[in-house]
Amino acid sequence: MPEPSKLVAGLKRSGIREIGDLAAGMEGVISLQIGEPLFSTPPHIIDAACEAVKAGFTKYTPNSGLPSVRAVIARRLNEDYQLKLTPENVVLTVGGIGALASAIRALTDAGDEVLIPDPGWPNYEMTVECADAVPRRYELDQARGFIPGIEDLEKLITPKTKVLLINSPSNPLGTVFPEAMMKELVDFARRYDLYIVSDEVYEKIIYDGKHASALSFDTDGRVVGVFSFSKTYAMTGWRVGYAVAAEPVARQIAKLQEAYVSSAAAVSQKAAEAAITGPQDCVETMRKAYEENRKVACQVLDSFGINYQKPLGAFYMWVEVNCEDSTEFAKRLLIEQKVAVAPGTTFGPSGKRHIRISLASPREAIREGLHRLGLMLKS
Ligand code: PLP
Repeated sequence: MPEPSKLVAGLKRSGIREIGDLAAGMEGVISLQIGEPLFSTPPHIIDAACEAVKAGFTKYTPNSGLPSVRAVIARRLNEDYQLKLTPENVVLTVGGIGALASAIRALTDAGDEVLIPDPGWPNYEMTVECADAVPRRYELDQARGFIPGIEDLEKLITPKTKVLLINSPSNPLGTVFPEAMMKELVDFARRYDLYIVSDEVYEKIIYDGKHASALSFDTDGRVVGVFSFSKTYAMTGWRVGYAVAAEPVARQIAKLQEAYVSSAAAVSQKAAEAAITGPQDCVETMRKAYEENRKVACQVLDSFGINYQKPLGAFYMWVEVNCEDSTEFAKRLLIEQKVAVAPGTTFGPSGKRHIRISLASPREAIREGLHRLGLMLKS
Protein backbone atom coordinates (compact mmCIF):
# COMPACT_ATOMS: atom_id res chain seq x y z
CA MET A 1 0.00 0.00 0.00
CA PRO A 2 1.49 3.42 -0.86
CA GLU A 3 2.08 5.74 2.08
CA PRO A 4 -0.48 8.54 2.48
CA SER A 5 0.81 12.12 2.37
CA LYS A 6 3.90 12.72 4.52
CA LEU A 7 3.01 16.39 4.69
CA VAL A 8 -0.38 15.67 6.27
CA ALA A 9 0.99 12.92 8.52
CA GLY A 10 3.55 15.43 9.82
CA LEU A 11 0.98 18.08 10.83
CA LYS A 12 0.88 18.65 14.58
CA ARG A 13 -2.28 17.91 16.52
CA SER A 14 -3.76 20.83 18.47
CA GLY A 15 -2.85 20.76 22.18
CA ILE A 16 -6.33 22.13 22.92
CA ARG A 17 -7.92 18.99 21.44
CA GLU A 18 -5.47 16.86 23.43
CA ILE A 19 -6.62 18.43 26.70
CA GLY A 20 -10.24 18.13 25.52
CA ASP A 21 -9.78 14.39 24.88
CA LEU A 22 -8.26 13.89 28.33
CA ALA A 23 -11.09 15.88 29.93
CA ALA A 24 -13.74 13.89 28.03
CA GLY A 25 -12.96 10.82 30.13
CA MET A 26 -13.37 12.71 33.42
CA GLU A 27 -16.42 13.82 35.36
CA GLY A 28 -17.13 17.31 36.70
CA VAL A 29 -14.46 19.13 34.68
CA ILE A 30 -14.60 22.94 34.43
CA SER A 31 -13.92 23.70 30.76
CA LEU A 32 -12.10 26.95 30.09
CA GLN A 33 -10.23 25.80 27.01
CA ILE A 34 -12.72 26.18 24.18
CA GLY A 35 -12.86 29.27 21.96
CA GLU A 36 -16.56 29.26 21.27
CA PRO A 37 -19.32 31.69 22.32
CA LEU A 38 -21.49 30.33 25.13
CA PHE A 39 -24.53 31.90 23.44
CA SER A 40 -26.86 30.31 20.91
CA THR A 41 -27.31 31.93 17.50
CA PRO A 42 -29.84 34.80 17.89
CA PRO A 43 -33.41 33.65 17.04
CA HIS A 44 -33.97 36.14 14.19
CA ILE A 45 -31.01 34.63 12.33
CA ILE A 46 -32.31 31.10 12.84
CA ASP A 47 -35.78 32.17 11.65
CA ALA A 48 -34.33 33.76 8.52
CA ALA A 49 -32.39 30.58 7.76
CA CYS A 50 -35.53 28.43 8.15
CA GLU A 51 -37.41 30.75 5.78
CA ALA A 52 -34.53 30.60 3.29
CA VAL A 53 -34.58 26.80 3.24
CA LYS A 54 -38.34 26.83 2.63
CA ALA A 55 -37.82 29.36 -0.15
CA GLY A 56 -35.43 27.01 -1.95
CA PHE A 57 -31.95 28.02 -0.81
CA THR A 58 -31.00 24.37 -0.79
CA LYS A 59 -28.75 24.30 -3.82
CA TYR A 60 -25.21 25.18 -4.89
CA THR A 61 -24.38 28.86 -5.01
CA PRO A 62 -21.74 30.57 -7.17
CA ASN A 63 -18.19 29.84 -5.90
CA SER A 64 -17.88 33.36 -4.46
CA GLY A 65 -21.25 33.19 -2.71
CA LEU A 66 -24.69 34.66 -3.35
CA PRO A 67 -24.46 38.11 -4.99
CA SER A 68 -26.96 39.62 -2.50
CA VAL A 69 -24.86 38.46 0.47
CA ARG A 70 -21.60 39.71 -1.04
CA ALA A 71 -23.31 43.06 -1.60
CA VAL A 72 -24.47 43.49 2.01
CA ILE A 73 -21.03 42.49 3.28
CA ALA A 74 -19.28 45.01 1.01
CA ARG A 75 -21.73 47.71 2.13
CA ARG A 76 -21.25 47.07 5.84
CA LEU A 77 -17.43 47.03 5.54
CA ASN A 78 -17.55 50.29 3.59
CA GLU A 79 -19.63 51.83 6.37
CA ASP A 80 -17.55 50.43 9.23
CA TYR A 81 -14.10 51.18 7.81
CA GLN A 82 -14.75 53.87 5.15
CA LEU A 83 -13.72 51.59 2.28
CA LYS A 84 -14.72 51.49 -1.37
CA LEU A 85 -15.36 47.78 -1.79
CA THR A 86 -17.65 46.22 -4.35
CA PRO A 87 -19.22 42.73 -4.12
CA GLU A 88 -16.41 41.54 -6.42
CA ASN A 89 -13.98 42.03 -3.53
CA VAL A 90 -15.87 39.58 -1.28
CA VAL A 91 -15.72 35.77 -1.32
CA LEU A 92 -17.95 33.79 1.05
CA THR A 93 -16.09 30.84 2.58
CA VAL A 94 -16.59 27.93 4.95
CA GLY A 95 -15.83 29.83 8.15
CA GLY A 96 -13.02 32.31 8.68
CA ILE A 97 -10.65 29.34 8.46
CA GLY A 98 -11.89 28.77 4.90
CA ALA A 99 -10.97 32.35 4.02
CA LEU A 100 -7.60 32.05 5.71
CA ALA A 101 -6.65 28.73 4.09
CA SER A 102 -7.78 29.87 0.63
CA ALA A 103 -5.93 33.17 0.99
CA ILE A 104 -2.67 31.50 1.99
CA ARG A 105 -3.03 28.91 -0.80
CA ALA A 106 -3.92 31.59 -3.37
CA LEU A 107 -0.91 33.74 -2.48
CA THR A 108 1.92 31.23 -2.07
CA ASP A 109 3.81 28.58 -4.01
CA ALA A 110 5.75 25.68 -2.49
CA GLY A 111 8.61 26.96 -0.33
CA ASP A 112 7.35 30.54 -0.01
CA GLU A 113 7.62 31.86 3.53
CA VAL A 114 4.75 33.20 5.60
CA LEU A 115 5.42 35.20 8.76
CA ILE A 116 3.05 34.10 11.53
CA PRO A 117 2.70 35.32 15.12
CA ASP A 118 4.18 33.56 18.15
CA PRO A 119 2.01 33.10 20.12
CA GLY A 120 -0.71 32.74 17.51
CA TRP A 121 -3.77 30.65 16.69
CA PRO A 122 -2.45 27.09 16.07
CA ASN A 123 -4.29 26.79 12.75
CA TYR A 124 -1.95 29.37 11.16
CA GLU A 125 1.01 27.01 11.19
CA MET A 126 -1.11 24.10 9.99
CA THR A 127 -2.73 26.11 7.20
CA VAL A 128 0.61 27.40 5.90
CA GLU A 129 2.07 23.89 5.98
CA CYS A 130 -0.95 22.49 4.13
CA ALA A 131 -0.22 24.96 1.33
CA ASP A 132 3.37 23.59 1.21
CA ALA A 133 4.58 27.03 2.25
CA VAL A 134 6.92 27.59 5.20
CA PRO A 135 5.76 29.22 8.44
CA ARG A 136 8.26 31.59 10.09
CA ARG A 137 7.30 32.82 13.52
CA TYR A 138 7.71 36.39 14.68
CA GLU A 139 7.70 36.73 18.44
CA LEU A 140 5.15 38.96 20.12
CA ASP A 141 7.35 40.12 22.93
CA GLN A 142 5.79 40.48 26.38
CA ALA A 143 8.11 43.41 27.16
CA ARG A 144 6.60 45.32 24.21
CA GLY A 145 3.02 44.52 25.23
CA PHE A 146 2.79 41.59 22.78
CA ILE A 147 2.68 43.91 19.76
CA PRO A 148 4.76 43.11 16.63
CA GLY A 149 8.14 44.83 16.40
CA ILE A 150 9.06 46.09 12.94
CA GLU A 151 12.78 45.34 13.58
CA ASP A 152 11.92 41.75 14.55
CA LEU A 153 9.91 41.34 11.35
CA GLU A 154 12.72 42.85 9.28
CA LYS A 155 15.19 40.25 10.60
CA LEU A 156 12.97 37.45 9.25
CA ILE A 157 12.72 38.74 5.69
CA THR A 158 14.33 36.54 3.03
CA PRO A 159 13.87 36.48 -0.77
CA LYS A 160 11.23 33.78 -0.13
CA THR A 161 9.05 35.86 2.21
CA LYS A 162 5.67 36.35 0.57
CA VAL A 163 3.04 36.97 3.25
CA LEU A 164 2.81 38.64 6.63
CA LEU A 165 -0.04 37.17 8.65
CA ILE A 166 -1.40 39.39 11.41
CA ASN A 167 -4.22 38.97 13.92
CA SER A 168 -5.98 41.73 15.81
CA PRO A 169 -7.88 41.36 18.12
CA SER A 170 -5.59 38.47 18.96
CA ASN A 171 -6.28 34.92 19.89
CA PRO A 172 -4.74 34.04 22.38
CA LEU A 173 -3.47 37.42 23.66
CA GLY A 174 -6.50 39.71 23.49
CA THR A 175 -4.28 42.52 22.18
CA VAL A 176 -5.79 45.06 19.78
CA PHE A 177 -3.36 46.85 17.45
CA PRO A 178 -3.62 50.62 17.62
CA GLU A 179 -4.47 52.28 14.30
CA ALA A 180 -0.91 53.59 13.91
CA MET A 181 0.50 50.06 14.34
CA MET A 182 -1.88 48.69 11.70
CA LYS A 183 -0.76 51.39 9.27
CA GLU A 184 2.89 50.72 10.07
CA LEU A 185 2.41 47.01 9.31
CA VAL A 186 0.78 47.71 5.96
CA ASP A 187 3.58 50.20 5.14
CA PHE A 188 6.12 47.54 6.12
CA ALA A 189 4.47 45.02 3.77
CA ARG A 190 4.57 47.56 0.95
CA ARG A 191 8.25 48.31 1.63
CA TYR A 192 9.19 44.61 1.37
CA ASP A 193 6.59 43.83 -1.30
CA LEU A 194 4.64 41.32 0.80
CA TYR A 195 0.97 40.45 1.00
CA ILE A 196 -0.78 40.87 4.34
CA VAL A 197 -3.36 38.37 5.48
CA SER A 198 -5.19 40.16 8.28
CA ASP A 199 -7.29 37.92 10.51
CA GLU A 200 -9.96 40.19 11.97
CA VAL A 201 -12.55 37.61 13.04
CA TYR A 202 -12.83 39.21 16.52
CA GLU A 203 -13.32 42.74 15.11
CA LYS A 204 -16.61 43.29 17.00
CA ILE A 205 -15.45 41.98 20.37
CA ILE A 206 -13.60 44.99 21.72
CA TYR A 207 -13.54 46.19 25.37
CA ASP A 208 -11.20 49.16 25.24
CA GLY A 209 -10.29 51.24 22.21
CA LYS A 210 -11.35 50.67 18.64
CA HIS A 211 -10.68 48.03 16.00
CA ALA A 212 -8.61 49.25 13.06
CA SER A 213 -8.82 47.17 9.88
CA ALA A 214 -5.69 46.63 7.78
CA LEU A 215 -7.96 47.13 4.75
CA SER A 216 -8.22 50.83 5.66
CA PHE A 217 -4.52 51.32 4.87
CA ASP A 218 -4.35 49.23 1.73
CA THR A 219 -3.48 51.46 -1.21
CA ASP A 220 -2.45 48.83 -3.77
CA GLY A 221 -4.41 45.63 -3.14
CA ARG A 222 -1.92 43.73 -0.99
CA VAL A 223 -4.20 43.15 2.02
CA VAL A 224 -6.53 40.17 2.29
CA GLY A 225 -8.98 40.57 5.18
CA VAL A 226 -10.32 37.46 6.93
CA PHE A 227 -13.70 37.78 8.61
CA SER A 228 -16.27 35.47 10.16
CA PHE A 229 -19.79 35.20 11.50
CA SER A 230 -18.70 32.58 14.08
CA LYS A 231 -17.71 34.83 16.95
CA THR A 232 -19.64 38.05 16.29
CA TYR A 233 -23.03 36.32 15.96
CA ALA A 234 -22.39 33.03 17.83
CA MET A 235 -22.57 31.11 14.55
CA THR A 236 -19.63 28.69 14.84
CA GLY A 237 -21.61 25.69 13.55
CA TRP A 238 -22.98 27.47 10.46
CA ARG A 239 -19.45 27.55 9.04
CA VAL A 240 -19.57 30.84 7.23
CA GLY A 241 -16.95 33.54 6.87
CA TYR A 242 -15.43 35.61 4.06
CA ALA A 243 -12.26 36.88 2.49
CA VAL A 244 -11.95 40.47 1.28
CA ALA A 245 -9.32 41.14 -1.37
CA ALA A 246 -8.47 43.09 -4.50
CA GLU A 247 -10.38 41.61 -7.45
CA PRO A 248 -7.49 39.60 -9.01
CA VAL A 249 -6.77 37.89 -5.68
CA ALA A 250 -10.49 37.49 -4.87
CA ARG A 251 -10.89 35.63 -8.18
CA GLN A 252 -8.15 33.15 -7.21
CA ILE A 253 -9.70 32.65 -3.78
CA ALA A 254 -13.06 32.00 -5.47
CA LYS A 255 -11.42 29.46 -7.80
CA LEU A 256 -10.18 27.55 -4.76
CA GLN A 257 -13.73 27.30 -3.40
CA GLU A 258 -14.51 25.21 -6.48
CA ALA A 259 -11.58 22.91 -5.77
CA TYR A 260 -12.26 22.40 -2.08
CA VAL A 261 -15.91 23.05 -1.18
CA SER A 262 -17.75 24.47 -4.27
CA SER A 263 -19.13 27.21 -2.03
CA ALA A 264 -20.21 27.99 1.52
CA ALA A 265 -23.61 26.41 2.27
CA ALA A 266 -26.53 28.38 0.77
CA VAL A 267 -28.54 28.32 4.02
CA SER A 268 -25.55 29.58 6.02
CA GLN A 269 -25.04 32.42 3.57
CA LYS A 270 -28.69 33.45 3.99
CA ALA A 271 -28.29 33.26 7.78
CA ALA A 272 -25.21 35.47 7.41
CA GLU A 273 -27.19 37.98 5.35
CA ALA A 274 -29.84 38.15 8.09
CA ALA A 275 -27.11 38.60 10.70
CA ILE A 276 -25.71 41.66 8.92
CA THR A 277 -29.00 43.27 7.92
CA GLY A 278 -30.89 42.49 11.16
CA PRO A 279 -30.75 44.14 14.60
CA GLN A 280 -27.25 44.37 16.07
CA ASP A 281 -28.13 44.52 19.79
CA CYS A 282 -27.30 40.78 20.10
CA VAL A 283 -23.67 41.62 19.28
CA GLU A 284 -23.55 44.18 22.08
CA THR A 285 -25.25 41.83 24.58
CA MET A 286 -22.61 39.17 23.96
CA ARG A 287 -19.74 41.65 24.04
CA LYS A 288 -20.94 42.99 27.39
CA ALA A 289 -21.19 39.47 28.84
CA TYR A 290 -17.58 38.75 27.86
CA GLU A 291 -16.52 42.08 29.34
CA GLU A 292 -18.23 41.19 32.62
CA ASN A 293 -16.45 37.80 32.52
CA ARG A 294 -13.18 39.63 32.01
CA LYS A 295 -13.88 41.63 35.19
CA VAL A 296 -14.54 38.46 37.20
CA ALA A 297 -11.40 36.78 35.82
CA CYS A 298 -9.24 39.81 36.67
CA GLN A 299 -10.65 39.91 40.23
CA VAL A 300 -9.82 36.25 40.92
CA LEU A 301 -6.37 36.39 39.31
CA ASP A 302 -5.52 39.64 41.13
CA SER A 303 -6.58 38.13 44.45
CA PHE A 304 -3.91 35.42 43.94
CA GLY A 305 -1.31 37.83 42.51
CA ILE A 306 -1.16 35.96 39.20
CA ASN A 307 0.19 37.85 36.17
CA TYR A 308 -1.92 38.02 33.03
CA GLN A 309 -2.46 40.08 29.90
CA LYS A 310 -5.67 42.06 30.32
CA PRO A 311 -7.47 41.58 27.00
CA LEU A 312 -8.61 44.65 25.07
CA GLY A 313 -10.51 42.48 22.63
CA ALA A 314 -11.46 38.87 21.64
CA PHE A 315 -12.50 36.58 24.49
CA TYR A 316 -9.33 35.07 25.84
CA MET A 317 -6.95 35.66 28.66
CA TRP A 318 -3.24 34.86 28.48
CA VAL A 319 -2.21 33.88 31.99
CA GLU A 320 1.35 33.45 33.23
CA VAL A 321 1.91 30.27 35.22
CA ASN A 322 5.23 29.36 36.78
CA CYS A 323 6.33 26.41 34.67
CA GLU A 324 8.72 25.35 31.94
CA ASP A 325 6.17 23.36 29.95
CA SER A 326 2.61 24.61 29.87
CA THR A 327 1.32 21.35 28.31
CA GLU A 328 2.47 19.42 31.39
CA PHE A 329 1.05 22.18 33.57
CA ALA A 330 -2.35 22.02 31.82
CA LYS A 331 -2.46 18.25 32.27
CA ARG A 332 -1.64 18.60 35.99
CA LEU A 333 -4.30 21.29 36.40
CA LEU A 334 -6.82 18.99 34.79
CA ILE A 335 -5.91 15.93 36.85
CA GLU A 336 -5.43 17.68 40.20
CA GLN A 337 -8.06 20.43 39.99
CA LYS A 338 -10.37 19.27 37.20
CA VAL A 339 -9.90 22.49 35.26
CA ALA A 340 -9.30 22.30 31.49
CA VAL A 341 -7.32 25.16 29.91
CA ALA A 342 -5.43 25.59 26.63
CA PRO A 343 -1.67 25.13 27.10
CA GLY A 344 0.35 28.10 25.84
CA THR A 345 2.78 25.86 23.90
CA THR A 346 -0.05 25.10 21.49
CA PHE A 347 0.17 28.71 20.31
CA GLY A 348 3.93 28.62 19.72
CA PRO A 349 7.23 28.17 21.55
CA SER A 350 6.86 31.48 23.38
CA GLY A 351 3.81 30.08 25.20
CA LYS A 352 5.67 27.63 27.40
CA ARG A 353 5.01 29.66 30.58
CA HIS A 354 1.41 30.60 29.77
CA ILE A 355 -2.04 29.12 29.53
CA ARG A 356 -5.07 30.52 27.71
CA ILE A 357 -8.50 30.61 29.26
CA SER A 358 -11.70 31.44 27.40
CA LEU A 359 -13.92 34.26 28.64
CA ALA A 360 -16.73 32.81 26.55
CA SER A 361 -17.20 30.22 29.31
CA PRO A 362 -19.99 30.45 31.93
CA ARG A 363 -19.18 33.12 34.57
CA GLU A 364 -19.26 30.77 37.55
CA ALA A 365 -16.99 28.32 35.72
CA ILE A 366 -14.48 31.15 35.20
CA ARG A 367 -14.65 32.18 38.86
CA GLU A 368 -14.29 28.64 40.23
CA GLY A 369 -11.79 27.46 37.58
CA LEU A 370 -9.44 30.40 38.19
CA HIS A 371 -9.82 30.00 41.96
CA ARG A 372 -8.63 26.39 41.61
CA LEU A 373 -5.77 27.56 39.38
CA GLY A 374 -4.78 30.05 42.09
CA LEU A 375 -4.84 27.33 44.78
CA MET A 376 -2.63 25.07 42.67
CA LEU A 377 -0.13 27.84 41.95
CA LYS A 378 0.02 28.72 45.66
CA SER A 379 0.55 25.15 46.85
N1 PLP B 1 -9.11 33.23 13.41
C1 PLP B 1 -8.95 33.09 14.74
C2 PLP B 1 -7.92 33.93 15.41
C3 PLP B 1 -9.75 32.19 15.46
O1 PLP B 1 -9.58 32.11 16.78
C4 PLP B 1 -10.71 31.44 14.77
C5 PLP B 1 -11.52 30.45 15.48
O2 PLP B 1 -11.29 30.09 16.62
C6 PLP B 1 -10.85 31.64 13.38
C7 PLP B 1 -10.03 32.53 12.74
C8 PLP B 1 -11.82 30.88 12.51
O3 PLP B 1 -13.06 30.73 12.98
P1 PLP B 1 -14.23 30.20 12.01
O4 PLP B 1 -13.61 29.29 11.03
O5 PLP B 1 -15.18 29.50 12.92
O6 PLP B 1 -14.81 31.40 11.38
